[in-house]
Amino acid sequence: MTSFPSLFVSHGSPMMALEDSRARRFLCKLGEEIGRPEAIIIASAHWEAPRLAFTTAERLPTIHDFGGFPQALHDCQYTPPGAPDAVAKAAGLLQAAGMTAYADPVRGVDHGTWVPLMLMYPDADIPVAQISIETALGAARQLEIGRALAPLRDDDVLVIGSGNITHNLREMNRAEPDGEGHDWVVEFGNWVADALAAGRIDELIAWEKAPHARRSHPSDEHFLPLFTALGAGGPDAVAEKIHSSYSYGSLAMDMYSFR
Ligand code: ZN
Repeated sequence: MTSFPSLFVSHGSPMMALEDSRARRFLCKLGEEIGRPEAIIIASAHWEAPRLAFTTAERLPTIHDFGGFPQALHDCQYTPPGAPDAVAKAAGLLQAAGMTAYADPVRGVDHGTWVPLMLMYPDADIPVAQISIETALGAARQLEIGRALAPLRDDDVLVIGSGNITHNLREMNRAEPDGEGHDWVVEFGNWVADALAAGRIDELIAWEKAPHARRSHPSDEHFLPLFTALGAGGPDAVAEKIHSSYSYGSLAMDMYSFR
């Protein structure tokens, strides 16, 4: 039986919903390539919460959690059905691993979720649940959550972490939305790729010691969903780098699958 891989996607600027780029073109093909799951559970950098929670609304409203973008972006709607069956299974798996997850019946999908999903599965007809990020508990906690969720892949649930391999908004080069990366961005991205390829999980968890780590991530939240995806790949997950490009010089758009 072939199970779904888990995925890490770099979601970049919300403008990816509208503007052509290498990353956008890749995501537009990715959904078809990996097939249609029964449900999607996704950890986005844009839902940081003091405790672990799932969205449980029957239909998830679109959250336009940004400012200063064109009206056309605010007009984008992606309102998938909720995923009660997948959430029930996921909550049970987390509980078995000693973690409690709460229900959030109000929250919808933020742009870390709807921008990539709109490109991967434009019909918005696959059930979706977001799971929150507990930033303060760091990479090890996200890995633990991902590992607990790994069996969902055998139930045709697609587990996704959505963040960015580097995310420095202060050093963006606005003239290069789809150009090359700054040297330190490339170096940090290569460090991540090498550590994943070699399975150096302890080094990854201590990522703040890597070259240019803080410049690549002035705050943690866009890096942590990588660990959800890595964990969900299972204990012997093999990482495959499925995409690499750069946005505005300081956003590495690398994406990975784990299985
Ligand atoms: Zn983001």
